[in-house]
Amino acid sequence: MSKTIDPIPFARPFIGAEEEEAVLRVLRSGWLTTGTEALSFEKEFAAFLSRERQDEIHALAVNSATSGLHLALEACGVGPGDIVVTSTYTFTATAEVVRYLGAHVVFVDVKVGTYLMDPDSLERTLERLSQGLPAYSPRQSGRDPAMGYGPTGKVKAIIPVHVAGLACDMDRIVSLAHKYGAQVIEDAAHSFPSRLADGRWVGLLGDIGVFSFYATKTITTGEGGMVVTHNKDVANHISVMRSHGIDRSIWNRYTDTKASWKYAVVAPGYKYNMPDVLAAIGRIQLGRAFDLLEMRRHIAERYNQGFSSVPELIVPPSGIENAWHLYPLRLADFSDSAARDRFIELLQNQGIGVSVHFIPLHTMPYYADLYHFSESDFPNAMDTFIRTVSLPIWPGMTEEQIDRVIETVMKTIGQLKG
Ligand SMILES: *Cc1c(COP(=O)(O)O)cnc(C)c1O
Repeated sequence: MSKTIDPIPFARPFIGAEEEEAVLRVLRSGWLTTGTEALSFEKEFAAFLSRERQDEIHALAVNSATSGLHLALEACGVGPGDIVVTSTYTFTATAEVVRYLGAHVVFVDVKVGTYLMDPDSLERTLERLSQGLPAYSPRQSGRDPAMGYGPTGKVKAIIPVHVAGLACDMDRIVSLAHKYGAQVIEDAAHSFPSRLADGRWVGLLGDIGVFSFYATKTITTGEGGMVVTHNKDVANHISVMRSHGIDRSIWNRYTDTKASWKYAVVAPGYKYNMPDVLAAIGRIQLGRAFDLLEMRRHIAERYNQGFSSVPELIVPPSGIENAWHLYPLRLADFSDSAARDRFIELLQNQGIGVSVHFIPLHTMPYYADLYHFSESDFPNAMDTFIRTVSLPIWPGMTEEQIDRVIETVMKTIGQLKG
């Protein structure tokens, strides 16, 4: 009889007694939805990001990063007929919010080996669109450039996605955005906390940044997100739009607290506020952020070391202070997704939870039909997709579990080769 082993899940939140106590405290307080906990969470989050720098940061708690991205685009004035550029190598949330506003999504490819938006591809796309040409070059060389395909329009925003916690080339992306008159919204769902070598936090490198506290993310509230910006006007606008377009400051300016039933609706806003029950969890998780990061970094280092002797296993790039939301492992020898799928199946059969980040959006039926994409339109994204597998990297993994992941990966690679 073979020995049964406990499966290692792909992801698992790190929740302790402090989170339980915080939730109980809110449940007993008589106030469940957005209130003092959410306000404190925002203040503490802003303080976290400004602890070593004196710049003013506004942090706005929302019920998901998806909501945060929607609010950010709305605050940038994105509307019907506009264009928002992002990478095809992302989760569907990044692009769907563009469609909520009736604008067009234009995808760019990733840079080989990085998972991240390719600034050269971005530049070519921005240049084409600025000339009134369709977003994508003709599929056959030698054709008239006007024979391209995809939407035309004004680029209002660019959304770089910091996949896995790695940072996009923000200096180039921001300077291209300035040149072509677009705003930059960072999808920092994977990046709390990541920073560049010079200490600048990912999420505060463009105009607006959005973090996610979804159940599998680096710190979690179950569901939730945080929008950050240096721009006070943008922060005020988002604050109003996340709660029905209600502007309380209009009345508060003229009245005392007794008139709190009065409010002014200044826009048909959204219902995107974060309830206090969740904010209370977030405050505790925020306090653990560096400890949790240390645990993920340790796992990443163990993996890097464990795989270093196998040339066809390509570990994630280094060079920044990565939040290590994901540990994407690239398998250089895989030439199609069938080999990757087989590898995943074998790992899963041995009780190792794995995933793939991401299935490029241009291959999804909705976008493929809408913009007439073929898979080969974004070759670097496809090349990355067919070779990449995300391994478990969650705080609380034991040394024995880490060893087992390494051993199982090595054994399985050997099996596939043999
Ligand atoms: C998780 C995720 C989101 C959405 O986050 P939610 O908080 O679940 O809305 C957006 N972008 C990326 C890249 C993500 O991984």
